[in-house]
Amino acid sequence: MALRKILLNGDSALRKPARPVEKFNRRLHLLLDDLAQTMYDANGCGLAAPQVGILQRAVVIDLDEEDSELIELVNPEIITSEGEDEAIEGCLSIPDIRGHVTRPKQVRVRAQDRFGVFFELETEGLLARCVCHEIDHLEGCLYIDIMSRQATEEEIAAAAESDKEKK
Ligand SMILES: [Zn+2]
Repeated sequence: MALRKILLNGDSALRKPARPVEKFNRRLHLLLDDLAQTMYDANGCGLAAPQVGILQRAVVIDLDEEDSELIELVNPEIITSEGEDEAIEGCLSIPDIRGHVTRPKQVRVRAQDRFGVFFELETEGLLARCVCHEIDHLEGCLYIDIMSRQATEEEIAAAAESDKEKK
């Protein structure tokens, strides 16, 4: 496993649609392992392959909550989404700011695992938000494209404080 360099906003790779993964081989497994290691190293809760310059439809997510575990999504697709929820969002490729983004409350996603086996995942709240954010990366879309406004320092501090209380 190895840490990969996270591309920053302004890099053209972040704006290109990613290709479907067709080969579920060692190369893919290495990519997924590297994505996870790079995400944990950067203290993020999700990372998509285009963020490390690989235009393939693969993402990793781990909310780093008590009962959370690493989720690997290959060729993910949102099947249904319900409700609306606004919260402050950030991105490892846009380290300096955060913004208010409205996302679905619940999302059902269909994806393949690292061996190509299809599965479905029912998500809500922060996990649903994270899934939508990472899938957007596969389309070359960043949250700053859809945020209502940038979050203020005070709002970011308040959100961090309430996160701490939850843990
Ligand atoms: Zn992101």
